[in-house]
Amino acid sequence: MKAQCKTSYNLRMSENQSLIARSLAAVWHPCTQMKHHEHYPLTPIVRGEGVWLYDADGKRYLDTVSSWWVNLFGHNHPAIKEAIKQQLDTLEHVMLAGFTHAPVVELSEQLAKLTGLGHAFYASDGASATEIALKMSFHYWRNTGHPNKSKFISLQNSYHGETLGALGVTDVAIFKDTYAPLLMQSAQMPSPDFRLADAGETEEQFALRCVEALETYIAAHHDELAAFIIEPLVQCAAGMGMYHPVYLKRAREICTEYQVHLIADEIAVGFGRTGKMFATEHAAPKVSDIADFVCLSKGITGGYLPLSVVLTTDEIYQAFYDDRTVKGFLHSHSYTGNPLACSAALATLALFEQTSVMQANQAASQYIQDKMQVLTHLPIQYLRHHGMIHAFDVQTQNAQFSRDCYAAGLAKGLLLRPIGNTVYFMPPYVISTDEIDWMVEQTALVVEQTL
Ligand SMILES: *Cc1c(COP(=O)(O)O)cnc(C)c1O
Repeated sequence: MKAQCKTSYNLRMSENQSLIARSLAAVWHPCTQMKHHEHYPLTPIVRGEGVWLYDADGKRYLDTVSSWWVNLFGHNHPAIKEAIKQQLDTLEHVMLAGFTHAPVVELSEQLAKLTGLGHAFYASDGASATEIALKMSFHYWRNTGHPNKSKFISLQNSYHGETLGALGVTDVAIFKDTYAPLLMQSAQMPSPDFRLADAGETEEQFALRCVEALETYIAAHHDELAAFIIEPLVQCAAGMGMYHPVYLKRAREICTEYQVHLIADEIAVGFGRTGKMFATEHAAPKVSDIADFVCLSKGITGGYLPLSVVLTTDEIYQAFYDDRTVKGFLHSHSYTGNPLACSAALATLALFEQTSVMQANQAASQYIQDKMQVLTHLPIQYLRHHGMIHAFDVQTQNAQFSRDCYAAGLAKGLLLRPIGNTVYFMPPYVISTDEIDWMVEQTALVVEQTL
């Protein structure tokens, strides 16, 4: 009887509604209080094309956040798709311990050339890359006779992923506080996020003031410090907190002086997002001029397949190279260096080589900036950008602004995902000027409606 009712109910539901009901029953969604879905929409997507996502009823949504910052060149990109298809016909996977394959070699060589960091260690997601960098740094100091250098520092409001180690250096209360008893202790340095500056202080002055505090701390604690981990230029999960690159330059000098590793977490900002291939390049010509380790993920495969990598220096690599097994870095993940993911990454890098992505992004960034003037009649502050990240903070009494704005955006055909009161655009690089016009105009309406 009950089953029958359910069947007839299913028949009356649209394909969209049916997918929603089944998903809410069977799928535990990430970063979500599931009960909120009693009031906030879950959106079933059946296909994507360029900046657009389509639901089962044919309604489309402009993906203003590149699906959590991963999709660099739009959905259903012919070149990336073709590369994966070709790889699929030859080798879908082989374990990387004791074995190797052309896509992982080629990718490692290209990343070495791009960053100046010649040794690539792979995993499948950003948080794992953070874990690897932390473990490698700790292990380096142990291997080189400094076992006391075992602690990490990060910035206030930092985000480095949500596995236990990564959460230990993350500083976002809503993600961290519940798990505090499980986490390794780390100290947080004052964030150079310009929104926190004093009135009258320039972005550069504020960054220099913050870096002084970093120096004071490191000078006092370097004996026990393994590494300082930092999101270069933009603290994305903190709500697109942007800061002056002089902070990175000085942080490097301080870390060198006191023998502390600098880990650049470029998971969100790598691959052209801030206007340079890597965000650390705003502070120095090469990533290796700033970082001992760089963590890459998200955009690395153009948003096609999970992949992450930690790149590091020859000096660090050599500290593990030994006859004794335990001196080696014995970390592993089953899908390490997956050939399909590497082929997607190679196709993504090829797009940077074949097309003038950075130049086009510069023009698009300027266009978005100009267009965003239509927002200035709203109660907003800190209108800001770095490359293809544009953001502003909304002054509102609505305690549920973020969720209301998200829901109102979907109703209008926009995938907006505010972080607190920060609304931001991090669209695929292929967004057209018409799409930008529409995105910004609709966003203005959505914000106005949800204040
Ligand atoms: C997203 C992100 C991570 C974590 O990556 P996951 O793939 O979600 O685990 C780490 N650091 C930064 C800066 C990020 O933006």
